[in-house]
Amino acid sequence: MNSNNIIIAIDGYSSSGKSTMAKQLAMNIGYRYIDSGAMYRAVTLYGMRHGLVTTDGEVDVPKLISSLPDIHIDFHLEGDRQFTMLNGENVENEIRTLGVSNCVSPVAAIPEVRHALVKMQREMGERKGIVMDGRDIGTVVFPNAEMKVFCDASAERRAERRYKELTDKGEKVSYEDVLANVIKRDHIDETRDESPLRCADDAVRLDNSKMTIDEQNRWLIDLFNKITNR
Ligand code: C5P
Repeated sequence: MNSNNIIIAIDGYSSSGKSTMAKQLAMNIGYRYIDSGAMYRAVTLYGMRHGLVTTDGEVDVPKLISSLPDIHIDFHLEGDRQFTMLNGENVENEIRTLGVSNCVSPVAAIPEVRHALVKMQREMGERKGIVMDGRDIGTVVFPNAEMKVFCDASAERRAERRYKELTDKGEKVSYEDVLANVIKRDHIDETRDESPLRCADDAVRLDNSKMTIDEQNRWLIDLFNKITNR
């Protein structure tokens, strides 16, 4: 381990491009990348498969909480691709569907779910050298992270990105449904009692509505170099 390794927290709104830039940064600097949203999505998928979460996002909270010890989440690396594993099964594609997106925020608002996942996330960051993206990484999971970024973009721009991502994968969705999901998730994430989405006081804000992916990546690496005095 390099003793100069730091923790990088990248938070922001749904589909604000944070995963793309976080992943790229991790690759460029040789850090581990963790998509904390994938972990909330995996718990949601488990709940849906076991009849504990309905397609409208109704959650059987006590049963889901008591199932938490049976839910094992891991990441599998293959070259530069990362797959989310739920109890040993690759669920990377399934957790990205609009069906799961529609149910994930109510699941992520359950304090016990958050406590279990935050514990796992902290363990993953114990040795530093990690880029983690999510909603509460700079505020709750790693309040002492050396580098914190908070991403935003207009809801329409974010929905366009998510719509393209889903339709490129062959999912049949309408732009209006994707936009409605983005707005609804923002609202639930910002207003929940337990660690709501907010920008940490010491985070650097980035509105990437008008930036290309290359521009975002360059911006992020410049910030990393500045913080680590490279
Ligand atoms: O990042 P992504 O859009 O995949 O996250 C899915 C959902 O998981 C978010 O809308 C939010 O409800 C929840 N989430 C969270 N805290 C995190 C990461 C994701 O509450 N750190």
